[in-house]
Amino acid sequence: MKKIDLHCHTTASDGLLQPEELLDLAVANDLTYCAITDHDTIDGLDAAIQYSKQLDGLNFIPGIEFSVDYPHGSFHLVGLGIDHTNEQMTETIINLKEKRETRVVRIVKDLENHDINISLDEVYSEAKGAALGRPHVARVLLKNGYGNILSDIFENFMVKGKPGFIKKEKISLEKAIELIILSRGIPIIAHPISLNFQNWHDFENILQDCIKLGLQGIEVYAHMHTDEEVNVFKKIANKYNLLISGGSDFHGDKKETIGYYGENKIIPFDIINQFI
Ligand code: AMP
Ligand code: FE
Ligand code: FE
Ligand code: ZN
Repeated sequence: MKKIDLHCHTTASDGLLQPEELLDLAVANDLTYCAITDHDTIDGLDAAIQYSKQLDGLNFIPGIEFSVDYPHGSFHLVGLGIDHTNEQMTETIINLKEKRETRVVRIVKDLENHDINISLDEVYSEAKGAALGRPHVARVLLKNGYGNILSDIFENFMVKGKPGFIKKEKISLEKAIELIILSRGIPIIAHPISLNFQNWHDFENILQDCIKLGLQGIEVYAHMHTDEEVNVFKKIANKYNLLISGGSDFHGDKKETIGYYGENKIIPFDIINQFI
């Protein structure tokens, strides 16, 4: 059965597979459309575009996932089909990369202040030049015996009130949407449940503001969503004439399967027709 996946990560950010390896996996799992949407970086896209040319039947979609400044929850904005060579896009990304680097230095320092000693070098070699993030620090903490599984680490470190918590400086929603549109991509709210809204009415209000700024779609099919939430997000997307997206948010170190948004839940193939 043909499958699609519009949200995947690689070693360019915090995924475990190289772009080429991710695309091989996509082909092996019968995907005909696959997007790479790394956190705040486009570094994997050149390699993926090149490599996808030699893959029969796989359409590669260059994308990005911005962490957007938002007071109440975690706002991730995916851009699909971007021209990643756009100059404003590349400039912004260089700036965000620098901010991520400074943050990780501060995270390691704060851990040290709490007698948790991991070396920055170890984090760098874990990241191998990728856009640095908490997952790289988390993997080093795991390797050094500070937890048994990754989720333990994210419970005990680098979150509010715990050692190593340093807030991330993020791009504004306005700027992120504008950049994606400038680079001819489609701006989509990723896993909208992570916005932590109070109720559906509250979500619709947030959504209306986003639409005014140029938002074009929402990721309805996401592993963070219950079946019930998937249904409501779908209804709301239709109500506001928004595109419906779906992705596994594949990183390679959790339970995700490419082409699925949960156990036995295939990302509906038909949604690709809205994009092509
Ligand atoms: P950062 O952008 O540096 O704040 O890191 C955010 C990333 O950390 C997310 O995209 C996830 O990949 C990862 N992450 C956050 N919370 C968890 C968790 N509880 N378990 C595993 N990975 C997590
Ligand atoms: Fe991630
Ligand atoms: Fe995300
Ligand atoms: Zn993601």
